[in-house]
Amino acid sequence: MNIHEYQAKQLLARNGVAVPFDLPAKSLAEVRPAAEKIAATGSARVVVKSQIHAGGRGKGTFKSGFQGGVKVAASVDEAVGFAGKMLGETLVTKQTGPEGRRVQTLLLAEGVKIKQEFYLAVLLDRANSRPLIMASTEGGMDIEEVAEKHPEKIFREHIDPAVGIMPFQARKISAALGLKGDLFNAGVKLVTGVFNTWWECDATMVELNPLAIVELRDGKESLMALDAKISLDDNALYRHKDIQEMRDLNEEAPLEIEASKFNLNYIKLDGSIACLVNGAGLAMATMDIIQHFGGSPANFLDVGGGASKEQVTAAFKIILSDPNVKGILVNIFGGIMDCNVIATGIVAAVKETGLKLPLVVRLEGNNVAAGKQTLAESGVAIITGDSMADAARKVVKAVGNHGPAFNATAIAFTCYPVTDMARARKFYETVLGLKATTAYGDAGGMQWTEYDIASGTLALGCGAPDWRPREDGAALALEVEDFEPAIAHLRATNAKFKIEPMTSPVCQMAFIYDTEGNLICIHQRRKS
Ligand code: ADP
Ligand code: MG
Repeated sequence: MNIHEYQAKQLLARNGVAVPFDLPAKSLAEVRPAAEKIAATGSARVVVKSQIHAGGRGKGTFKSGFQGGVKVAASVDEAVGFAGKMLGETLVTKQTGPEGRRVQTLLLAEGVKIKQEFYLAVLLDRANSRPLIMASTEGGMDIEEVAEKHPEKIFREHIDPAVGIMPFQARKISAALGLKGDLFNAGVKLVTGVFNTWWECDATMVELNPLAIVELRDGKESLMALDAKISLDDNALYRHKDIQEMRDLNEEAPLEIEASKFNLNYIKLDGSIACLVNGAGLAMATMDIIQHFGGSPANFLDVGGGASKEQVTAAFKIILSDPNVKGILVNIFGGIMDCNVIATGIVAAVKETGLKLPLVVRLEGNNVAAGKQTLAESGVAIITGDSMADAARKVVKAVGNHGPAFNATAIAFTCYPVTDMARARKFYETVLGLKATTAYGDAGGMQWTEYDIASGTLALGCGAPDWRPREDGAALALEVEDFEPAIAHLRATNAKFKIEPMTSPVCQMAFIYDTEGNLICIHQRRKS
């Protein structure tokens, strides 16, 4: 969990870390009184700071065009003016991504005179299984950039977790920052306070950027944390009721909050293929294979080892409320879980949510035959995947990241409906002199005759309900590469079906209307 700067400063202040006097404000009405209190301390400047869980605010830009998420105001009126341009607006910084974050809280702080800026952080060095203090004289800027260009300017000190920070270590860091005299002692106290904050809060990171030497009004110099970021270990939060209360749901993705209510492990990503998977490992593998076939996952979603029908329905709803989702891949391995329970859950969820998007399901394991039967008999449009690769390929194709879902590869034939096959054949074969290439007396309930003419084929069909000869126009048959995804795609685009998908010994086909009332046959030859 992350917390806001003003909350981080409250935690640091408990451990004696000096911060500028400040007051948070959640509405414009709270801004003026807060700014007045800050001015009343004798501070000539009031700093207005956007509170979002992302850094780089100072150099950020609001979507309104207003520059800077941290502004120094010379008067209370100016501070109120800045606040009006920030509250409720969306701030885009290097760390927010292009969608930015809506500013719903401001921090009004005493404006201090900065003499020098430093960087100071405590984090967990997993490779060494120890807390690590990092300090640099290159403060106030992008620490990643310093690490890359001037690694020698970052000072590192590991702390023994059994002992905690030793006074000599705090002195080493103070010295590394070049602090002298009173500032050196202030540095020792501050570094110790920052480390203790990290330790007591079960934080994964405490970062001050900048930590600054500031000139006080009496001309003396002092050390202060001007910016603070604290990330906490979620697994230890139960020990900190006070910190739990600092959670700001506005800063968390609403879908992730919803998912946590149903015990679903959901993380939103920015691709277009939603995945619903049981088990974190399988979820990772599923995301990889989607990527492998040229798609991009819209989320990580682990429904856990024993997902219920309710969880599957909740998962579908969460997935579908992401507007980027263009298709869904369900990949379930029934170990503990009964595949038929999952299949029933999927069918119920599809019906309840009125799913229109292409849905590819791959089931494997415990009671899989019954599960597949449930899907097949459900009457809902589900594309089945035989293997993980097959399922991933199909969903990527259906979503159209890799060529469109509807991929016509040839004109299969042009077909004329006839009402009497024998009479029609006599006309085509004696009057027009064509030679029948193929003729079926009963092809899926129809009589069917084909005439190959050079590279084209003319077909005569007889016996399909509601398909009658007409004066103006014939039906064109388009050959598609993958019948099921093509049909799913057409359904998703609300195409009107004249004849629902049917199978014959040689093909799968369906008839749809174009926007003008013409029929188009969608056709896929059986692979022999
Ligand atoms: P961010 O890192 O998100 O850009 P900071 O809190 O670090 O936000 O603010 C950006 C810069 O604004 C700081 O590097 C510092 O120079 C200046 N600043 C921040 N707080 C104060 C303050 N109270 N008084 C004077 N300057 C400040
Ligand atoms: Mg900063």
